[in-house]
This record gives sequence, structure tokens and C-alpha cells, in this order.
Amino acid sequence: MNLKRKVIDSAESDKRKFSGAPGGLNTPSPPPARLKLRLTAAAEMAVRGGHPWVFDQSIRRQNREGTTGELAVLYDRGDEFLAIGLYDAVSPLRVRILQTGTPQTINADWWRSRLRAGLDRRAGCFGSETTGWRCLNGESDGFPGLVLDRYGDTLALKCYTLAWMPWLDVILRLVREETRAERLVLRLSRNIQEQAAKDPGWRDGQELWGEPITGPVRFLEHGLHFEADVVRGQKTGFFLDQRENRSRVESLSAGRDVLNAFSFSGGFSLHAARGGARSVVSLDISDHALRSAERNFELNQNLPGVAACLHETIRADAFEWLNTGGPRYDLIVLDPPSLARRKADRTRAIASYGKLIESAARRLRPRGRLVAASCSAHVTAEEFLELARASVRRAHPAIHELAVTGHPPDHPATFPEANYLKCIFLELRSPKGVSQ
Ligand code: SAH
Repeated sequence: MNLKRKVIDSAESDKRKFSGAPGGLNTPSPPPARLKLRLTAAAEMAVRGGHPWVFDQSIRRQNREGTTGELAVLYDRGDEFLAIGLYDAVSPLRVRILQTGTPQTINADWWRSRLRAGLDRRAGCFGSETTGWRCLNGESDGFPGLVLDRYGDTLALKCYTLAWMPWLDVILRLVREETRAERLVLRLSRNIQEQAAKDPGWRDGQELWGEPITGPVRFLEHGLHFEADVVRGQKTGFFLDQRENRSRVESLSAGRDVLNAFSFSGGFSLHAARGGARSVVSLDISDHALRSAERNFELNQNLPGVAACLHETIRADAFEWLNTGGPRYDLIVLDPPSLARRKADRTRAIASYGKLIESAARRLRPRGRLVAASCSAHVTAEEFLELARASVRRAHPAIHELAVTGHPPDHPATFPEANYLKCIFLELRSPKGVSQ
């Protein structure tokens, strides 16, 4: 589709090519003209308003074919500078905006100040009891399609677009200088792994500096010890975004029998145990995740609450398992993976969330508590919260809302698509006149 696009400014590009290189055949060819784009009116307005994405269909004209990772300059209808961004020739998400409004030279100093701003934003957010957090959250920290997570002395840098490949050397140098972390592991999202391996040879899970990794790395969350498989694990090895919700679950767990569905490595389970839960079931479809949950319980046996708590793991499909009759619980945590990865999945996802929440609500004891989270950006917070309330009410008419939460401070979300995480804490109440 790119090929069909009108080539603009070709005269200017030719002029540059020839005027700067009078020396003839042996003169090295000058760099190609700056990639210039013009957008549809709607896209231009969105970019001007601060939106960081430009999709391929929104590009009205460009002066030449672009290469992945080069800088593209966007001009508005009045031929004024609109924004500059990273061009991705293979993804429909064609440009990720770096700077809007005033032109800037994108060089190492510029990246450094962005990086420092991201690191400063987290400074003072965490005491010594928490050593795992997100240092850079993609677009929302000015690094579109790039995430930097810290687990103790180990950093995990995850790229979601090939557009970062030409910049990696400079970014890595700056990250090393600014964080002084002992080790860094590169992670690549699945869709870019094959291409990244070809040229220039970046590999998912590759250690770029520091001691070789011999197993999961350890870190602290609210004083609890956890392991994270930064080399192979989902995301960068842990779901750091649920930190504050886990803490809240801890405060709701005393004396309770808890079910942690979609437990992964037991983050909610450990917090519930330390909070005084009588028993905790970690339920996940992945055996690997459950073994990690067991090891995380082992790591915290010095804590009386954890040592006293009966921890059991169940490997099952949570959707099916909750639907079959079985034990009831005082507190159920539901933290499924994204059920709507694409917009087209929305309707199905909403139906699945609804069923899941209703079946969990039916497995609650009187005055039981339900914690339901969604990490699907395509389902808005309002939609999800309403759905959760309505689905619980189908099982129990009287409910009380304890809390609604969103993103933690190390996961800022500056535009709607980045705002994926929402969580609701509900408690069952006795309907008037009926004793439960
Ligand atoms: N609550 C976790 C993160 C959950 S991530 C935490 O605090 O760390 C989602 C988890 O759901 C993954 O571990 C994945 O293995 C699991 N999962 C995916 N589909 C599932 C299913 N159908 N039934 C049970 N678990 C599932």
C-alpha cells in the first residue's frame, strides 16, 4: 500500500542528492533526504493533541519510502512542523511520536534528558522494601514501544518495535550510565524476534551486560521476596502493575480462605498469606507459573503469616473450573490475561468477563469479597466496572463497593490506549431482612 502513495518533495530530495555531491562517482553518497510525512486531517488533529501513534492509513503523503527506525518528520497542512517520530515500515503502527509542537534534534543528549525524567519520576516512590518497578513505561514516558523494568540490580529492557534497533546502542549506553544497574537483559516482543535476530542480531533474553543469569532473579515487593524469570517470563518476568492491588488484597485477607485465580507466580497469594489468610489456592493454567508460586512461598517462610497459611496450587482452566461446583471462598481474586487483544475481540471479551465474574461470585461465601481486574485496553474502565457490578449482582443482589483502582505511579498512562488496567473490590452484603 505504501508503494501507491504519492511521492512528494521529490524535487527537493533530488536537489539535495546532487547539489551536495559534486565530486562525481567516487564521492560517498550523501544521506537521503529527511523522511517527510503528511497526515489526514483527523490524524493531524490527534497528533497535535498529543496522541503518540500514527497508523499507516492516516498517512496521506510521504516524500519517499521510509526505513524502519529512521526519524520521520510530520508536517501539517500549513507546511509547519507538527511532530517527529520513529518510523516503522513493517507495522501498521507506522510512526511512534517522540516530540510534538517544537522541532528538536533527537540525539544522545535528548534521549538522556528523557531517560532522566523517567527515572526522576520514580525517585522516592519506593522504599527499600520494594526493589522491583517499571522505570520507563513506553509512550507515557516518551519512549514509545519500549519498556524498562528493574528487578533489584537487574534491568529488563523490552522492545515492542523494530524501530528501536538502530537506537539500541545509544539507549543501552545511556541506561547503563544513568542507572548504574549491574545487569541488563534485552527482551523482544514475539512479533519482532525473528527479524531482530537477522539484522543486527539482537536476541530475546540476551544479556547485554553483567554477570551471566543462572536462574530467576530475586527482588522485593513490599518486603516480600519474589523471583522473576526476566529471560523467558511473560512481560519482563513479573506483573509489576498489580503491586498496589496486591497490597490492598493483603489488607482484606485476615482469617479468610482465598482463591487467587490466574495466579501466575503467586503475587496476590503471598500478600494474602502475609495478611493472615487461613488458606490460599493459587490457580493457573500454567504449571511453570504454579511452580514459581510454590518457590515464592518457600522464599518467604520466615514470615509467620506465610508459614501459617495453607497454600495449595491447582492447575486448571479458570473459566471451566469456576463453573463446575466446588468449594466456596471468602475472597476471590480474578486477574485474567487480556481477553481483548484486538478491538474485534471486544464483544466476546465482555461476555467472557461477565461469565467469569458471575461464576466467581457464585463461589463466594456470605460477606465474601471479590477482586476483579481487567488489563484489556479495548474494554474501558467504565464498561468493565459496570459489567463487574452487574455480573456480581446476578449472583447476589446486595453488594458493597470497597474500592476501584487504576494504574500505579510507575505505570503512567498518558493516552487512552495506554490506560489498560482497572480493578474493582466488591463485598457481598446480606439483602435486607435475609440472614445469610
Ligand atoms: N495475577 C498475576 C498475573 C496474572 S497474568 C500476578 O499478580 O502476578 C495471567 C495469568 O493467567 C498467567 O499466569 C496465565 O498462565 C494465566 N492463564 C491464562 N489463561 C488461563 C486460564 N484459562 N485459566 C487459568 N489461568 C490462565
